[in-house]
Amino acid sequence: MESRQMIEFPPQFLWGAATAAHQVEGQNSNNDWWEWEHLGGKIADGTTSETACDQYNRYEEDFDLARKLGHNAHRLSLEWSRIEPQEGVFAQSEIEHYRRVLTALRERGLEPFVTLHHFTNPLWLARKGGWENPKAVDYFTRYVRVVASELGGLVRFWNTINEPMVYAFESYIEGKGPPGAKSLRSASLVIVAMLRAHALAYHIIHETSPGPQCDVGIAKHMRVFDPMRPRHPGDRAFARVSDFIFNSWFLDAIETGRLAWPIGIGQKVQALAGTHDFIGLNYYTRDMTRFSPLKPQLLFIENIVRPGSPVNDLGWEIYPEGIHQLLMRLKKKYDKPIYITENGIPAVDDSMRLAYIRDHLLQTHRAISDGADVRGYLHWSLLDNFEWAEGLTPRFGLIAMDYETQRRAPRPSAEAYAKVAAGNRLDPAWVD
Ligand code: BGC
Repeated sequence: MESRQMIEFPPQFLWGAATAAHQVEGQNSNNDWWEWEHLGGKIADGTTSETACDQYNRYEEDFDLARKLGHNAHRLSLEWSRIEPQEGVFAQSEIEHYRRVLTALRERGLEPFVTLHHFTNPLWLARKGGWENPKAVDYFTRYVRVVASELGGLVRFWNTINEPMVYAFESYIEGKGPPGAKSLRSASLVIVAMLRAHALAYHIIHETSPGPQCDVGIAKHMRVFDPMRPRHPGDRAFARVSDFIFNSWFLDAIETGRLAWPIGIGQKVQALAGTHDFIGLNYYTRDMTRFSPLKPQLLFIENIVRPGSPVNDLGWEIYPEGIHQLLMRLKKKYDKPIYITENGIPAVDDSMRLAYIRDHLLQTHRAISDGADVRGYLHWSLLDNFEWAEGLTPRFGLIAMDYETQRRAPRPSAEAYAKVAAGNRLDPAWVD
């Protein structure tokens, strides 16, 4: 009888989950998202982050759970507004807090992936115009210098900025996050500022960090854009434009050191070229692109869900082949080690999460077999958490949260994922 093909992952593969400070810590009352949530009418289900998962106080319990679930890595972000509560004033007590958090990860054998900016800004920066302020880059790099010198010894993997294009799109074009702007010009300014901030942070971390090795990159959200009407020249062209701007523009700029059209005109940015040691891929879904003459404010582009496709609780298409496609593209274009820094599904029905994990891991494995240098997978998310403009309703966690009691309950998908992590392979029986 023919033996089934083993679905083994490469040795030393990192397995874990990803989170972000504002979504899990609770009581992040000194940043612009907190203020935004409390304006009223901004969050779909009317909730606010409030105590969230109270991870600020319960991180040891959460990391114990992650370890029990076989994880050997964990992605988290540092909350800038805690570390620098007022402009130029750094809170040593909060730096010590994060030192304890990172030490707690290390003690449990969880390799930290640290994000320095995950959508939130200190209120003092928001008051000064946020990332549109020409000095934002200096402010960010001052914070990075403090963090890298204080905590660098505990961190190998750094994500400077989480999903700059998503941040610019949601907060400056769609207006779904603070400052609620709807301006292509503002979005472009913010993207360029974040790019400069990333480049400088890259060098600062390498120069400052006392650790024996450090690897710095961004966490890049990528989606598949396919033409809604495959033969329609407009849909095809605009799918390519969406893909270029959303998926490639930022990474290409890092690679080449230049600002391409339509955000730049090919001009060079000093010290930018080559400022990534790895690529962090955040992948969730695919969009179908349609040329839409009625949407000039969005460059005539409309992205919709493919009719009839399987969708998650937020209506996003479930499209596992997409991760293979994007991993292969990253390999071909940039040839850097890749870590999947987010991949997950909002689903009350946990069997959907189970299938989602299995199918995305199969496609990831296929990409590895096809030559992609994928070295880790961090599922979004460890626990249910505060999903920004959607509030607390979407359930992304391997671990279910009861926000009232703060009880955590690992879901069956967490147990299945634990077996993958522990064995460094997908059980063929799960796949059949
Ligand atoms: C973000 C997370 C978010 C997740 C699910 C990513 O774009 O980095 O903060 O919760 O997607 O929407």
